[in-house]
Formats: sequence, C-alpha cells, structure tokens
Amino acid sequence: MTGQPLSDAELLALADAAAERAYAPYSRFHVGCAVLARDGRVIEGVNVENASYPLGVCAEEAALARAIAEGYRPGDFAVAAITASPCGGCRQWFAEMGVERVVFRNGGRVVEMTVDEILPEQFEL
Ligand SMILES: [Zn+2]
Repeated sequence: MTGQPLSDAELLALADAAAERAYAPYSRFHVGCAVLARDGRVIEGVNVENASYPLGVCAEEAALARAIAEGYRPGDFAVAAITASPCGGCRQWFAEMGVERVVFRNGGRVVEMTVDEILPEQFEL
C-alpha cells in the first residue's frame, strides 16, 4: 500500500466490513479485526465459532494467525482495530505479537490504548 497510513477510523471501518464475514451461527455476535502492519498492509480476521463452543477462535486471533502464516512476525504490527472490546486472551496475543496500539468499540465509545495499558504485567517467560 502506498500513500498515507490508514487512520484509526478507517481501520475500524475495515474491521466493521470484515465482521460481516464472521462465522458465528451460535452467538450471532459478529466480530471483525483489522490489523495494520508496519509495511502498510491490513490483515483482517473474524470470529469463527464451532458447535463445540470452546473451540471457536476470536477475530483477533484469526487475524494475527493469518498474518503469521503470511510471513509477518512479532513486532511487525502497528495497530489492531476491533469491533468489540478484546477478551483477556486476545490481549495476551497482542502482547506476544508486539502490537503497538489497540482501537476498539466498547458500548458507544471508541477506545484507544497501548497494549501495555490494556494488559499490564503481561505473561512473559
Ligand atoms: Zn478474544
């Protein structure tokens, strides 16, 4: 991608569009995540549910796993935009992947935080 980097609002709009592709027949709660890589590319993910409920994956995990499969590595990610507040597990994913900032909707608000703010004292080995 060339030109200006995407704004947080533009990235959130991509997350909204991705959410329409979620596979959530059980909860009907569609979530989208758009991750802006430092090279300007956007990698999107959606929640994918399973009849065995705990096997479902979050949109954030789906986006980051997809990015890793495409060759990105921890530290390659600038911003993750999500259509809902990320769960605790996904906050740890952001920490592992070195995502710099997170933008998400919570109720009627748009919240923007660093990963250190959203998950202090992250698990480390
Ligand atoms: Zn999650």
